[in-house]
Amino acid sequence: MGKVETEASARDDLAAVYRMCHKLGLNEGVCNHMSVLVPGTSDRFLVAPYGLLWSEVTPESLVLVDPKGRVVGDGAVDTSAFEIHSAMHAVNPEKNVAVLHTHMPYTTALCVIQNDTLPNKERIAMCCQNALRFWNDISYDEIFRGWVLDPEEGLRLAAGLKEKRVGLQKHHGVFICAPTLAQAFDDLYYLEQAAKVQVLAMSTGAPLALVDEDVCKSVKEAFDSERENFARQHLDARKRELSRDDKTLKWLAQPKAKGSRLAQGQHSRPMKCSEVVTACDTASQSPREKGEGGDWLAAVEGLVKE
Ligand SMILES: [Zn+2]
Repeated sequence: MGKVETEASARDDLAAVYRMCHKLGLNEGVCNHMSVLVPGTSDRFLVAPYGLLWSEVTPESLVLVDPKGRVVGDGAVDTSAFEIHSAMHAVNPEKNVAVLHTHMPYTTALCVIQNDTLPNKERIAMCCQNALRFWNDISYDEIFRGWVLDPEEGLRLAAGLKEKRVGLQKHHGVFICAPTLAQAFDDLYYLEQAAKVQVLAMSTGAPLALVDEDVCKSVKEAFDSERENFARQHLDARKRELSRDDKTLKWLAQPKAKGSRLAQGQHSRPMKCSEVVTACDTASQSPREKGEGGDWLAAVEGLVKE
Protein backbone atom coordinates (compact mmCIF):
# COMPACT_ATOMS: atom_id res chain seq x y z
CA MET A 1 0.00 0.00 0.00
CA GLY A 2 1.32 3.41 -0.88
CA LYS A 3 0.86 6.41 1.31
CA VAL A 4 -2.55 8.06 1.37
CA GLU A 5 -2.58 10.94 -1.07
CA THR A 6 -4.17 14.25 -0.12
CA GLU A 7 -4.54 17.42 -2.14
CA ALA A 8 -1.68 18.89 -0.09
CA SER A 9 0.66 15.95 -0.81
CA ALA A 10 -0.35 15.98 -4.49
CA ARG A 11 0.51 19.70 -4.65
CA ASP A 12 3.90 19.09 -3.02
CA ASP A 13 4.75 16.24 -5.39
CA LEU A 14 3.56 18.05 -8.52
CA ALA A 15 5.48 21.23 -7.66
CA ALA A 16 8.58 19.09 -7.05
CA VAL A 17 8.13 17.34 -10.41
CA TYR A 18 7.88 20.70 -12.23
CA ARG A 19 11.06 21.91 -10.58
CA MET A 20 12.93 18.67 -11.22
CA CYS A 21 11.90 18.58 -14.87
CA HIS A 22 13.18 22.16 -15.21
CA LYS A 23 16.47 21.05 -13.67
CA LEU A 24 16.68 18.11 -16.08
CA GLY A 25 16.05 20.36 -19.10
CA LEU A 26 12.77 18.72 -20.07
CA ASN A 27 10.79 21.99 -20.35
CA GLU A 28 10.53 24.92 -22.74
CA GLY A 29 9.99 28.52 -21.59
CA VAL A 30 6.60 28.79 -19.88
CA CYS A 31 5.01 26.21 -22.15
CA ASN A 32 4.04 22.56 -21.74
CA HIS A 33 2.12 21.28 -18.78
CA MET A 34 1.91 18.57 -16.18
CA SER A 35 -1.21 17.77 -14.20
CA VAL A 36 -2.54 15.38 -11.57
CA LEU A 37 -6.09 14.59 -10.51
CA VAL A 38 -7.04 15.93 -7.10
CA PRO A 39 -7.05 12.82 -4.85
CA GLY A 40 -10.59 11.55 -4.34
CA THR A 41 -11.89 13.10 -7.56
CA SER A 42 -12.00 11.94 -11.16
CA ASP A 43 -12.66 15.21 -12.96
CA ARG A 44 -10.65 18.04 -11.44
CA PHE A 45 -6.95 18.44 -11.70
CA LEU A 46 -4.02 20.51 -10.49
CA VAL A 47 -1.76 22.21 -13.04
CA ALA A 48 0.64 25.16 -13.17
CA PRO A 49 -0.92 28.43 -14.34
CA TYR A 50 0.28 29.85 -17.64
CA GLY A 51 3.23 32.22 -17.35
CA LEU A 52 5.25 30.55 -14.61
CA LEU A 53 8.63 29.05 -15.32
CA TRP A 54 8.68 25.46 -14.09
CA SER A 55 11.42 26.51 -11.68
CA GLU A 56 8.98 28.98 -10.09
CA VAL A 57 6.17 26.52 -9.35
CA THR A 58 5.20 26.05 -5.71
CA PRO A 59 2.40 23.95 -4.19
CA GLU A 60 0.35 27.11 -3.59
CA SER A 61 0.80 28.43 -7.13
CA LEU A 62 -0.81 25.35 -8.72
CA VAL A 63 -4.36 26.03 -9.82
CA LEU A 64 -7.30 23.63 -9.58
CA VAL A 65 -9.27 23.20 -12.80
CA ASP A 66 -12.79 21.77 -12.99
CA PRO A 67 -14.37 19.94 -15.98
CA LYS A 68 -15.72 23.18 -17.41
CA GLY A 69 -12.33 24.85 -17.35
CA ARG A 70 -13.12 27.02 -14.36
CA VAL A 71 -10.00 27.78 -12.34
CA VAL A 72 -9.60 27.94 -8.58
CA GLY A 73 -6.40 29.76 -7.74
CA ASP A 74 -4.34 32.68 -8.87
CA GLY A 75 -3.84 32.59 -12.61
CA ALA A 76 -5.22 31.14 -15.80
CA VAL A 77 -4.68 27.93 -17.72
CA ASP A 78 -3.98 28.17 -21.42
CA THR A 79 -6.41 26.62 -23.85
CA SER A 80 -4.03 23.93 -25.04
CA ALA A 81 -3.32 22.76 -21.48
CA PHE A 82 -7.03 22.51 -20.70
CA GLU A 83 -7.99 20.71 -23.91
CA ILE A 84 -5.19 18.14 -23.66
CA HIS A 85 -5.26 17.45 -19.93
CA SER A 86 -9.00 17.54 -19.33
CA ALA A 87 -9.50 15.06 -22.19
CA MET A 88 -6.75 12.69 -21.06
CA HIS A 89 -7.92 12.63 -17.45
CA ALA A 90 -11.54 12.19 -18.52
CA VAL A 91 -11.02 9.35 -20.98
CA ASN A 92 -9.59 7.04 -18.29
CA PRO A 93 -9.45 8.64 -14.81
CA GLU A 94 -8.17 5.47 -13.13
CA LYS A 95 -5.15 5.02 -15.39
CA ASN A 96 -4.60 8.66 -16.33
CA VAL A 97 -4.29 10.11 -12.82
CA ALA A 98 -1.15 11.99 -13.83
CA VAL A 99 -0.70 13.47 -17.31
CA LEU A 100 2.66 14.93 -18.32
CA HIS A 101 3.18 16.69 -21.65
CA THR A 102 6.58 17.93 -22.79
CA HIS A 103 8.60 18.60 -25.91
CA MET A 104 11.72 17.14 -24.26
CA PRO A 105 14.55 17.23 -26.75
CA TYR A 106 15.68 13.68 -27.45
CA THR A 107 12.21 12.13 -27.46
CA THR A 108 10.88 14.97 -29.61
CA ALA A 109 13.81 14.54 -32.00
CA LEU A 110 12.53 11.02 -32.61
CA CYS A 111 9.06 12.46 -33.32
CA VAL A 112 10.29 14.56 -36.23
CA ILE A 113 12.01 11.95 -38.39
CA GLN A 114 10.34 9.77 -40.99
CA ASN A 115 9.23 6.66 -39.14
CA ASP A 116 9.74 4.41 -42.16
CA THR A 117 13.46 4.78 -41.56
CA LEU A 118 13.08 3.12 -38.14
CA PRO A 119 12.86 -0.58 -37.20
CA ASN A 120 9.18 -1.63 -37.14
CA LYS A 121 8.34 2.07 -37.71
CA GLU A 122 8.68 2.54 -33.95
CA ARG A 123 10.10 5.89 -32.90
CA ILE A 124 11.37 4.38 -29.62
CA ALA A 125 13.31 1.30 -30.69
CA MET A 126 13.67 -1.63 -28.32
CA CYS A 127 17.43 -1.35 -28.48
CA CYS A 128 18.45 -0.57 -24.90
CA GLN A 129 17.37 -1.61 -21.42
CA ASN A 130 15.62 1.66 -20.60
CA ALA A 131 13.51 1.41 -23.75
CA LEU A 132 12.20 -1.98 -22.62
CA ARG A 133 10.24 -0.26 -19.84
CA PHE A 134 7.97 0.91 -22.65
CA TRP A 135 7.75 -2.29 -24.67
CA ASN A 136 4.28 -2.56 -26.19
CA ASP A 137 3.24 0.50 -24.18
CA ILE A 138 3.63 3.39 -26.65
CA SER A 139 1.03 4.70 -29.07
CA TYR A 140 2.15 6.61 -32.13
CA ASP A 141 0.02 9.42 -33.52
CA GLU A 142 1.21 10.19 -37.02
CA ILE A 143 -1.31 13.03 -37.52
CA PHE A 144 -0.40 16.57 -36.51
CA ARG A 145 -2.95 19.37 -36.78
CA GLY A 146 -1.13 22.16 -35.02
CA TRP A 147 -1.90 23.55 -31.59
CA VAL A 148 -4.55 21.69 -29.62
CA LEU A 149 -7.16 24.40 -29.30
CA ASP A 150 -10.49 22.56 -29.40
CA PRO A 151 -12.11 19.67 -27.49
CA GLU A 152 -12.23 17.43 -30.57
CA GLU A 153 -8.46 17.39 -31.00
CA GLY A 154 -7.90 16.86 -27.27
CA LEU A 155 -10.29 13.90 -27.28
CA ARG A 156 -8.72 12.50 -30.45
CA LEU A 157 -5.29 12.52 -28.80
CA ALA A 158 -6.68 10.99 -25.59
CA ALA A 159 -8.58 8.27 -27.46
CA GLY A 160 -5.47 7.39 -29.45
CA LEU A 161 -3.55 6.55 -26.29
CA LYS A 162 -6.01 3.76 -25.41
CA GLU A 163 -4.38 1.68 -22.65
CA LYS A 164 -0.85 2.81 -23.41
CA ARG A 165 1.25 4.76 -20.92
CA VAL A 166 3.06 6.82 -23.55
CA GLY A 167 1.85 8.72 -26.59
CA LEU A 168 4.22 10.21 -29.15
CA GLN A 169 2.83 12.63 -31.69
CA LYS A 170 4.63 13.32 -34.93
CA HIS A 171 6.04 16.86 -35.17
CA HIS A 172 5.07 17.54 -31.56
CA GLY A 173 6.19 15.68 -28.43
CA VAL A 174 5.21 13.25 -25.71
CA PHE A 175 2.23 12.53 -23.47
CA ILE A 176 2.67 10.33 -20.41
CA CYS A 177 -0.40 8.97 -18.61
CA ALA A 178 0.10 6.97 -15.42
CA PRO A 179 -1.88 5.93 -12.33
CA THR A 180 0.44 7.88 -10.00
CA LEU A 181 2.50 11.03 -10.41
CA ALA A 182 5.61 9.18 -9.26
CA GLN A 183 5.19 6.65 -12.09
CA ALA A 184 4.55 9.38 -14.64
CA PHE A 185 7.72 11.24 -13.62
CA ASP A 186 9.74 8.01 -13.67
CA ASP A 187 8.40 7.23 -17.16
CA LEU A 188 9.20 10.72 -18.42
CA TYR A 189 12.75 10.55 -17.12
CA TYR A 190 13.56 7.08 -18.43
CA LEU A 191 11.85 7.67 -21.77
CA GLU A 192 14.15 10.64 -22.36
CA GLN A 193 17.14 8.56 -21.28
CA ALA A 194 16.17 5.83 -23.76
CA ALA A 195 15.65 8.39 -26.52
CA LYS A 196 19.02 9.98 -25.79
CA VAL A 197 20.83 6.66 -26.17
CA GLN A 198 18.90 5.93 -29.38
CA VAL A 199 19.67 9.33 -30.92
CA LEU A 200 23.35 8.97 -30.03
CA ALA A 201 23.40 5.44 -31.45
CA MET A 202 21.68 6.57 -34.67
CA SER A 203 24.15 9.42 -35.03
CA THR A 204 26.90 6.85 -35.62
CA GLY A 205 25.15 5.77 -38.81
CA ALA A 206 25.28 2.11 -37.78
CA PRO A 207 22.01 0.14 -37.66
CA LEU A 208 20.30 -0.30 -34.30
CA ALA A 209 20.53 -3.74 -32.70
CA LEU A 210 17.13 -4.74 -31.33
CA VAL A 211 16.55 -6.82 -28.19
CA ASP A 212 14.83 -10.18 -28.72
CA GLU A 213 11.07 -10.07 -28.22
CA ASP A 214 11.02 -12.59 -25.36
CA VAL A 215 13.65 -10.62 -23.47
CA CYS A 216 11.66 -7.41 -24.03
CA LYS A 217 8.61 -9.11 -22.57
CA SER A 218 10.36 -10.47 -19.48
CA VAL A 219 12.12 -7.18 -18.70
CA LYS A 220 8.87 -5.25 -19.12
CA GLU A 221 7.08 -7.64 -16.77
CA ALA A 222 9.86 -7.26 -14.20
CA PHE A 223 9.57 -3.46 -14.37
CA ASP A 224 5.79 -3.60 -14.09
CA SER A 225 5.92 -5.75 -10.95
CA GLU A 226 7.97 -3.12 -9.11
CA ARG A 227 7.02 0.00 -11.01
CA GLU A 228 5.41 1.97 -8.18
CA ASN A 229 8.16 1.05 -5.73
CA PHE A 230 10.92 2.11 -8.13
CA ALA A 231 9.06 5.27 -9.10
CA ARG A 232 8.23 6.39 -5.57
CA GLN A 233 11.82 5.92 -4.43
CA HIS A 234 13.04 7.85 -7.46
CA LEU A 235 10.70 10.80 -6.82
CA ASP A 236 11.52 10.87 -3.10
CA ALA A 237 15.24 10.90 -3.93
CA ARG A 238 14.69 13.78 -6.36
CA LYS A 239 12.79 15.70 -3.68
CA ARG A 240 15.76 15.28 -1.33
CA GLU A 241 18.00 16.54 -4.12
CA LEU A 242 15.83 19.65 -4.55
CA SER A 243 15.89 20.21 -0.78
CA ARG A 244 19.67 20.08 -0.69
CA ASP A 245 19.94 22.50 -3.62
CA ASP A 246 17.56 25.10 -2.15
CA LYS A 247 17.09 25.10 1.59
CA THR A 248 14.44 27.82 1.36
CA LEU A 249 11.96 25.29 -0.05
CA LYS A 250 10.35 24.55 3.30
CA TRP A 251 7.37 22.90 1.62
CA LEU A 252 9.53 20.09 0.32
CA ALA A 253 9.13 17.13 2.63
CA GLN A 254 12.35 15.21 2.91
CA PRO A 255 11.38 11.56 2.71
CA LYS A 256 14.14 9.28 3.91
CA ALA A 257 15.60 6.63 1.66
CA LYS A 258 14.09 3.30 2.50
CA GLY A 259 14.40 -0.28 1.39
CA SER A 260 16.19 -1.33 -1.74
CA ARG A 261 15.27 -2.51 -5.21
CA LEU A 262 16.60 -5.98 -4.40
CA ALA A 263 14.08 -8.72 -3.83
CA GLN A 264 14.40 -10.99 -0.81
CA GLY A 265 17.04 -13.63 -1.27
CA GLN A 266 19.18 -11.47 -3.54
CA HIS A 267 22.52 -10.20 -2.30
CA SER A 268 22.13 -6.90 -0.50
CA ARG A 269 25.63 -6.76 0.97
CA PRO A 270 29.09 -6.87 -0.59
CA MET A 271 29.86 -10.45 -1.57
CA LYS A 272 32.98 -12.28 -0.47
CA CYS A 273 35.28 -13.56 -3.17
CA SER A 274 34.08 -17.15 -2.75
CA GLU A 275 30.48 -16.00 -3.16
CA VAL A 276 31.36 -14.16 -6.36
CA VAL A 277 32.82 -17.37 -7.75
CA THR A 278 29.74 -19.38 -6.72
CA ALA A 279 27.39 -16.80 -8.23
CA CYS A 280 29.31 -16.72 -11.50
CA ASP A 281 29.38 -20.52 -11.63
CA THR A 282 25.61 -20.53 -11.89
CA ALA A 283 25.77 -18.67 -15.17
CA SER A 284 26.02 -20.96 -18.17
CA GLN A 285 28.52 -18.70 -19.88
CA SER A 286 30.90 -18.28 -16.95
CA PRO A 287 34.52 -17.74 -18.01
CA ARG A 288 35.57 -20.84 -16.10
CA GLU A 289 33.10 -23.10 -17.92
CA LYS A 290 34.19 -21.71 -21.23
CA GLY A 291 37.77 -22.49 -20.28
CA GLU A 292 38.79 -18.92 -20.75
CA GLY A 293 40.96 -16.88 -18.44
CA GLY A 294 42.85 -19.51 -16.49
CA ASP A 295 43.85 -16.87 -13.97
CA TRP A 296 40.29 -15.67 -13.63
CA LEU A 297 39.95 -16.56 -9.92
CA ALA A 298 43.24 -14.87 -9.14
CA ALA A 299 42.10 -11.80 -11.05
CA VAL A 300 38.84 -11.67 -9.09
CA GLU A 301 40.71 -12.01 -5.83
CA GLY A 302 43.00 -9.21 -6.92
CA LEU A 303 40.02 -7.00 -7.63
CA VAL A 304 38.48 -7.76 -4.24
CA LYS A 305 41.70 -6.77 -2.50
CA GLU A 306 41.87 -3.42 -4.29
ZN1 LIG B 1 2.85 20.57 -26.85
